Amino acid sequence: MPQKSNSDGGVGSTAELDAIVVGAGFAGLYMLHRLRSMGLTVRVFEAGSGIGGTWYWNRYPGARCDVESLEYSYQFSEELQQEWQWPEQYSSQPEILRYVNHVADRFDLRKDVELDTRVISAFFDDANNCWKVRTDRGDSVSARYCIMATGCLSSRNMPDFEGLEEFGGSWYHTGNWPHEEIDFTGLRVAVVGTGSSAIQAIPVIAKQAAHLFVFQRTANYSVPGRDGPLDPAVEQRVKADYAGFRQSNSAQPFGASTVISDELAMDLEPEERRRRFQTQWDKGGGLPFLGSFADLILDREANAAAIEFIHEKIHNLVDDKTVADLLAPKNTFGCKRLCVDTGYYQTYNRGNVTLVDISGAPIERINRDGLTTNGQDYQVDAIVFATGFDAMTGALLKIDVRGSGGVKLGEKWADGPRAYLGLGVSGFPNMFTITGPGSPSVLTNMLPSIEQHVNWIAECVDYLGENELTRIEPLVEAEDEWLVTVNEVASQTLFTSCNSWYLGSNIPGKPRVFMPYIGYPPYVEKCKEVVANGYEGFALSA
Ligand code: FAD
Ligand code: NAP
Repeated sequence: MPQKSNSDGGVGSTAELDAIVVGAGFAGLYMLHRLRSMGLTVRVFEAGSGIGGTWYWNRYPGARCDVESLEYSYQFSEELQQEWQWPEQYSSQPEILRYVNHVADRFDLRKDVELDTRVISAFFDDANNCWKVRTDRGDSVSARYCIMATGCLSSRNMPDFEGLEEFGGSWYHTGNWPHEEIDFTGLRVAVVGTGSSAIQAIPVIAKQAAHLFVFQRTANYSVPGRDGPLDPAVEQRVKADYAGFRQSNSAQPFGASTVISDELAMDLEPEERRRRFQTQWDKGGGLPFLGSFADLILDREANAAAIEFIHEKIHNLVDDKTVADLLAPKNTFGCKRLCVDTGYYQTYNRGNVTLVDISGAPIERINRDGLTTNGQDYQVDAIVFATGFDAMTGALLKIDVRGSGGVKLGEKWADGPRAYLGLGVSGFPNMFTITGPGSPSVLTNMLPSIEQHVNWIAECVDYLGENELTRIEPLVEAEDEWLVTVNEVASQTLFTSCNSWYLGSNIPGKPRVFMPYIGYPPYVEKCKEVVANGYEGFALSA
């Protein structure tokens, strides 16, 4: 069902296409590949000057994946997964960027990607049953399908610090790191934030800086990553049956090879329980530690046992007891994303590192020479903001998206996102969201989740074409029911017991709603069922 394409793209173009894809990270690139292989005309718009999404933007020192390289990779091409050789067990940002660029070249994807082009609006045209998309470079393009591959963690959160414009030094956000090498040697540096990004960057910056001040509002749990070279024997074993490896991973709660214990923490004697935590701690990585027991994020007592173990580790690793007390998190274990580090806690034993507790007193203002908090001035030459993202909905809502009848997505989502399976939104026909709110996305190894969504969307588009249908959108009832399910599952866990970006509570004024769906394997089954039942929960028409 390919349609005519009357433009070859370029700045200020108008075109009629089969599909527009917004974003050229792992999701957008694979979507392009799938749709183009089906003979459709597709254009991808990407705000960045390069492809790779997360791994293009987040070049901060120490940036690394916390899912094993052999799993945080595409599986759609057996040749690709056999050919590619990962040097390390967990990949660094430059290595992942090298990989994604290789994929783009290997599958000739670049010719349909417009870089440096931000989509500013997407309006559904009821009369012509198509999407009209405009960009900040003057493109005006129409297409039957609009696919949002805008990323769950791509809209940076830069708090409105008073006086930042007066600051005389340099400042950076981890999510928009410069392309040139930043050398902090001899500088006094401030890092604001202690989430995953900060926890990776702090040990590296501390080694360069004359002095590093870490401004911590909320302490976070972190476990050692224990990165190292990829064992060739493991690589060989996986590559001998890559499909089987992927298949068995897809049955795991996080879509990764880590087996989550089916034992309950409190069923073991204290010493035995401790030994289990120690084994997983020694293995390294976030998922292995989370998988120590089945109920760490379900049961308060089990959770408290994990907290006790990590607190003890922090006190063993950090020399100064007052600093260790401040670093020991007070909130529920695992309700924020578990951080993974390389020598994070030990960094506070260095003479050139100061932890500044801002839990009771926010950063008051920034001035020419540095930051002020709690009435005290900290003079610095550089500030690194590791303040995170407006997750899951931020990038979508930055676009002026209007569905059937001109309904604004921002208005529809005023009380929080409503989407069916995180794949589509009622009232927004022929628009798909890859890893949208209501899908497991950020609670999984994201590469398989992305591929599962892209495959589902591609098969859906193919089905519509084959059956001479031109329009699909979720039914309001199906969307409402799914929202109830998402909330019901979340409420049975401890995820909702602290303020996290999963709940949107890191962004002032954002509705407090748990956005991802917990339960990867049942979710995949549900998506299959929907298809088997003739796209149950969706309205299809010609
Ligand atoms: P992204 O990679 O975010 O790409 C979206 C792209 O859309 C961006 O390039 C953006 O510029 C573009 N875009 C957005 N809006 C517009 C617009 N209006 N117009 C044009 N372009 C637009 N996941 C894991 O599973 N394991 C990890 O270890 C892990 N580590 C991470 C580390 C960091 C620092 C971050 C931020 C995220 C991490 N993630 C991790 C999640 C990661 O985002 C996903 O794994 C994956 O890279 C997402 O791919 P994507 O294509 O969906 O989105
Ligand atoms: P984040 O987890 O949201 O952390 C942001 C940090 O900034 C928090 O410590 C937060 O404090 C602090 N902060 C925000 N606003 C502040 C303010 N106004 N004043 C002082 N402090 C402020 O963001 P992130 O570290 O960029 O990580 C986001 C997600 O990306 C992760 O959860 C993970 O999913 C992914 N990621 C993964 C890896 C990896 O290991 N592979 C690495 C980086 C990122 P509060 O907690 O008090 O709000």
